[in-house]
Amino acid sequence: MKITFEKLKACAAEIFVKAGVPETEAQIVSEELATANLMGVDSHGVLRIPQYLEEMKIGQIRPGVSMEIVRETPVTAVLDCKQNFGQVGARRMVEIVAEKTKTCGMACAVSLNANHIGRLGSYVEALAERGFIAFGTVGVYAAGPMAPWGAMEPKLGTNPIAWAVPREGHKPLVMDCATTVVAEGKLRAYVQNGKHVPEGWIKDGYGNDTTDPLDFYKEPHGTIMPMGGKISGAKGSGLAIMADMFSVVLANDDYWSWEENGGVRYAENGVFLMAIDPEAFYGKDTYAKQCEIHAAFIKSAKPAEGVEEVLLPGEFEQKMAEKRLEDGIDLADSTWEGLIGIAQGYQCEWSKGLTVSGTGNQFVAY
Ligand code: NAD
Repeated sequence: MKITFEKLKACAAEIFVKAGVPETEAQIVSEELATANLMGVDSHGVLRIPQYLEEMKIGQIRPGVSMEIVRETPVTAVLDCKQNFGQVGARRMVEIVAEKTKTCGMACAVSLNANHIGRLGSYVEALAERGFIAFGTVGVYAAGPMAPWGAMEPKLGTNPIAWAVPREGHKPLVMDCATTVVAEGKLRAYVQNGKHVPEGWIKDGYGNDTTDPLDFYKEPHGTIMPMGGKISGAKGSGLAIMADMFSVVLANDDYWSWEENGGVRYAENGVFLMAIDPEAFYGKDTYAKQCEIHAAFIKSAKPAEGVEEVLLPGEFEQKMAEKRLEDGIDLADSTWEGLIGIAQGYQCEWSKGLTVSGTGNQFVAY
């Protein structure tokens, strides 16, 4: 199924509005999800809509609540997102950090009670588009799906980390990845397409290697290997622990204690965002010049056999976005049919008269 970015965003927004989300928030969430699809990060695109609607129903996502800065200095802030959409909270954090960085040269913020923010890269990129060097981490609330290095029991989230830097005449460089070998959302895509995952991605709940993504989801839950895999997974596991330390721990949230005491999960992501103004060092122009020289140096490396071009962080997604803007987004039929079913339930204009074959995707809970 091919669909344009604008149409996908509009379809998503109408679903959210009909489900009771205020228009501005519906637009933010839809734009973030459709942009993820545009960039080829389908695991964090509109495939998340059933999840978010389910989370609204159980009161985990509370659209429309007003967020509040609960602690603040000239260079720091703690934003209580009060369980609004993660995307709405993270966009507010970008504004707060950018404003403070403009005046102070650098600043950072952490969130409390934020839901799933989608692509962490989106928010560091937004800071880089304002001319700042940016860094971010997410601590994913809930025990799993990564086992700490040396353990077989999941205790860590997929905890993404991301950096972005501004460039002159180009989109920012953006490095944005989970600290597991792969983001959990990518497993959902395999389940929905009925496919096996590559070797080395997951283990079942008994610590055995497997390529069947359903082994990961069924009880007892399996684990996703840390970044670095079987040989050097201590790195991914360590990075995930540090991502927790920079986000949920810095925000004084001890979700692990209420979870271990049988509490219910009420939010999904603890977010840390930081920005540095290169003007405070050798100036924006010098940074931009050096950045281009260094980027050209890296890209001049002789490509390995079968590789057309050495890519910088973020280039894969930028090229995909250019292609999908031109040709349309390739959306899995199962995802599209799932959306039609939901939209018809809410009597969305765009879904009227559309038929589905009955293979619409299911909400894959984790
Ligand atoms: P991934 O494995 O696709 O890695 C992406 C990174 O690798 C990007 O920076 C990309 O530019 C770079 N890259 C890809 N191909 C490249 C190439 N050929 N050469 C050079 N660099 C290349 O990403 P992932 O780990 O599966 O994560 C996907 C998304 O999931 C991210 O946006 C992440 O923020 C998001 N995520 C979110 C949460 C959450 O709870 N909010 C949790 C985990 C992951």
